[in-house]
Amino acid sequence: MMKKSLSILALSIGLLLPLSTFAKNNVVVVATGGTIAGAGANSTNSATYTAAKVPVDDLLNAVPQIQNLANVTGVQALQIASESITDKELISIARQINDLLKKPDINGVVITHGTDTLEETAFFLSLVVKSNKPIVLVGSMRPPSALSADGPLNLYSAVALAASDSAKGKGVMVLMNDSIFAARDVSKTINIHTNAFVSQWGALGMMVEGKPYWFRNVAKRFNAASEFNIEEIKGDSLPLVQIVYGSGNMVPDAYEAYAKAGAKAIIHAGTGNGSVAKYIVPTLTKLQNDGVQIIRSSRVPHGFILRNAEQPDDKYGWVVAHDLNPQKAKLLAALALTKTKDPAEIQRMFWEY
Ligand code: GLU
Repeated sequence: MMKKSLSILALSIGLLLPLSTFAKNNVVVVATGGTIAGAGANSTNSATYTAAKVPVDDLLNAVPQIQNLANVTGVQALQIASESITDKELISIARQINDLLKKPDINGVVITHGTDTLEETAFFLSLVVKSNKPIVLVGSMRPPSALSADGPLNLYSAVALAASDSAKGKGVMVLMNDSIFAARDVSKTINIHTNAFVSQWGALGMMVEGKPYWFRNVAKRFNAASEFNIEEIKGDSLPLVQIVYGSGNMVPDAYEAYAKAGAKAIIHAGTGNGSVAKYIVPTLTKLQNDGVQIIRSSRVPHGFILRNAEQPDDKYGWVVAHDLNPQKAKLLAALALTKTKDPAEIQRMFWEY
């Protein structure tokens, strides 16, 4: 009798609970290539292998545990080593992610990606995809064929993160080696260890056994709060922006050549506080007067550029990249140039993103 009333009680509680309590979230894994899909000749080849070989279904089948976290499906968007990504691929990835996240039944996406330019794709998506749903980029430092491959656990953690309701509104995240990083400030800092990714402001959180633990939020604009929108970008290229690396004993030719090639902005990856050698200043002021935006960034890994320090930016009409590294400054500059040619307006964007 007692047993019967208990089961009736359990049944009634079950009927009262919303279906979503039991339903798993839907996560799409969008595969683009990289080492996480690489293949080496044998298991001791952790650094010598070919990237972008393994198809998405094999990546998912290699980690069957992800199906306990969410209903996971795969899409093969590209099969490429990430250093070969151009505006065309970047815009195409952004459009595909945007379309997927507009579907009400999709809760989050994971993008498997080569680690070389993973930070660039992550930052671009954080600027142009208008969604509050989790977007997680993941890669690996060792191919699946290697001993102690890091891809399977990274993928498991990335799916868990994309499926997590607590990751909503956190913007685009990079999941590598158990750490959750914000797209804007994460960077690949070594090309051989599995703990290759670092943010100068620290991780947002950690993934442990498929559960996120959060420690900070990003104070800048991203995703739903961004003024950029992939749906407003026409065609498959962005205004051309190139980077010149600062060092001693420079010649001005690279800046001039990029301007001649059609660059609308040049990121000066300067020494220290984005410094410019005094003999290069006339070249940059001339280019700025000719309509090429000059954006001072730093070659220092955790660079932080102050306006009107080192150079009189107000006087020259230059922009500073603040804490964005040169490759991220390049993307923000390209998007800024789709909206304005005013250096003051471009500078506002560099403070805000
Ligand atoms: N260079 C290749 C890429 O970025 C492999 C590097 C990696 O994924 O770790 O796709």
